[in-house]
Amino acid sequence: MLHSDRIPLSEKFVSIQGEGPFVGVVSLFLRVMGCNLRCVWCDTYYTWDREGVSIYNDGDIDKGFPYGFDEFREDCKAYPLTVITGGEPLIYSNIWERWIRDVEYGKFQFETNGTYPPFLEDDDRVFFVVSPKLKSSGNKKPPNVDVLKKFLPLIKNGRAYFKFVISDPEEDEKEIMDLLEDLGFPNELKPYSVFLMPEGITKDLPLAEKVVEMCIRNGFRYSDRIHIRIWGNIRGK
Ligand code: SF4
Repeated sequence: MLHSDRIPLSEKFVSIQGEGPFVGVVSLFLRVMGCNLRCVWCDTYYTWDREGVSIYNDGDIDKGFPYGFDEFREDCKAYPLTVITGGEPLIYSNIWERWIRDVEYGKFQFETNGTYPPFLEDDDRVFFVVSPKLKSSGNKKPPNVDVLKKFLPLIKNGRAYFKFVISDPEEDEKEIMDLLEDLGFPNELKPYSVFLMPEGITKDLPLAEKVVEMCIRNGFRYSDRIHIRIWGNIRGK
């Protein structure tokens, strides 16, 4: 099929996946431009921060460059895992869906904020790491329970995970517990499918210890940020 669509990327690079269920896997990263949320601690503000909302904002955002299907098809052959992140990659769900259906190789992990529903549910090469944004992110709207519920069947099949970024341990803990209850999240999946990950962009990740304690207290899974530990907050790593 001819694909004439282009997706605006901010970055394309090869590294190891530094967080979540595929940590350590050598991956191609495709980082899209644009996000529908405005997290104050967003560490990829250069994909969207025209308004200076992010605490890390230095006033510049990327111009982005167009990425097309032919390049995508070649990339998928070369790497075991393609991590599609942002920004919010599900802004472009329609295009990703058509492209992935037309490639034979690779596995795909979308990193999403949980405001758009899943797609390609019938394709077991596709995984979702869903990171609902809590009050401490600075976004006004609470996580969308109806959309998040649509990920539950995939979570049960090991094809989706929740990953909460913890920036305010006390406030976040209660909100996560309430949200999981609203979702009817299965208790037996919490130790494997719900990650808590410390916010932070310095190698010492100062919130890590508190987040581990939260995991032990509540039976969640811990995610470090290996790329930050190794390189610090360096783009393209
Ligand atoms: S949802 Fe992700 S990309 Fe969007 S502002 Fe929040 S942290 Fe940044």
